[in-house]
Amino acid sequence: MKDNRRFCLDLKESELSCWCKEKGFPSYRAGQISKWLASGVIDTAKMTNIPNNIKLALENDFIMKGMTVIHKFVSQIDGTVKFVYLLHDGNIIETVVMRYKTGLSVCISSQAGCKMGCTFCASAHAGFGKSLTAGEMFGQVILSQREMGEKIRSVVVMGIGEPFDNYKNLMDFFEIITDPDGFGLGARHITVSTCGLVPRIKEFTALKSQINLAISLHAPNDELRRELMPVPAHYTVRELIDACRDYVKATGRRITFEYSLFDEVNDTLACADELAALLRGLNCHINLIAANEFDGSPYKRCRPKRIDVFRKALAARGLNATLRREMGSDIMAACGQLRRGLESEEKE
Ligand code: SF4
Repeated sequence: MKDNRRFCLDLKESELSCWCKEKGFPSYRAGQISKWLASGVIDTAKMTNIPNNIKLALENDFIMKGMTVIHKFVSQIDGTVKFVYLLHDGNIIETVVMRYKTGLSVCISSQAGCKMGCTFCASAHAGFGKSLTAGEMFGQVILSQREMGEKIRSVVVMGIGEPFDNYKNLMDFFEIITDPDGFGLGARHITVSTCGLVPRIKEFTALKSQINLAISLHAPNDELRRELMPVPAHYTVRELIDACRDYVKATGRRITFEYSLFDEVNDTLACADELAALLRGLNCHINLIAANEFDGSPYKRCRPKRIDVFRKALAARGLNATLRREMGSDIMAACGQLRRGLESEEKE
């Protein structure tokens, strides 16, 4: 039977205040509960200053716990940590914590699975579970922070799922994470990556937010993009880049393009030419990614020599491109690889 109770991390302090009032509990209890939740404590047993009758009422009315670390993998190469969370409804999501000079950065999932069907992506092959609530996105940040015992300094919404396919909850999550009375993360320390849902990019542009925007482009023309990204390619490359130009104009911010390289697919000099023509004059940066292979993937990882030639070709054509440092390659840290592995293990 479907559980209609709300997940505790989706509750705002004002809602907890109303709840306390309804239940006849003193109003200051709302602040105490909120404090526990904001520090990543979602198990009432650990809320040491909350009396038992209130703990029982919380468990009765809301989904407490509801998000548990079921696996933790630590890279022996660079210390990257991957957490696998089990949600109260049985969905599994992945969260990756990376260490940079500026501190810890967390890459969160926005959905359990993805509907976008990109042919090179493990998440697309693992099927779609659901869109995550704002609390489930926030939970990945604060529970990971608690597990790491260290403050998270930046958040990237680039894990499993297409964030702009879960737009409303994503915006609620941004509100929670940037709340100066709560987690208080600066907008410039957040990046959202979309596969290019043009109407949502336009909506996001209208907000004039300081949150960084990245676009998973991966192909410089419609034909290749349809092959690699069938659902996002519903919008033409021209429509997508026009929306990006509008974004840069409206916000004054640089935009990032993610470009995963597949051997002899999108790493040719002809592709470099097309990309240069497409992005001419746009304030952008290109993140080249040596794409990972997974079982059943139709594409091969690009050879280092070809990556180097492609990067130099872009530079020679005036484009600002760097190769993204690979993190946690020994723990399948790339999006969706592990969830897919775990789900197929469960089916065996
Ligand atoms: S690449 Fe991103 S948008 Fe495409 S299927 Fe994977 S998670 Fe979804």
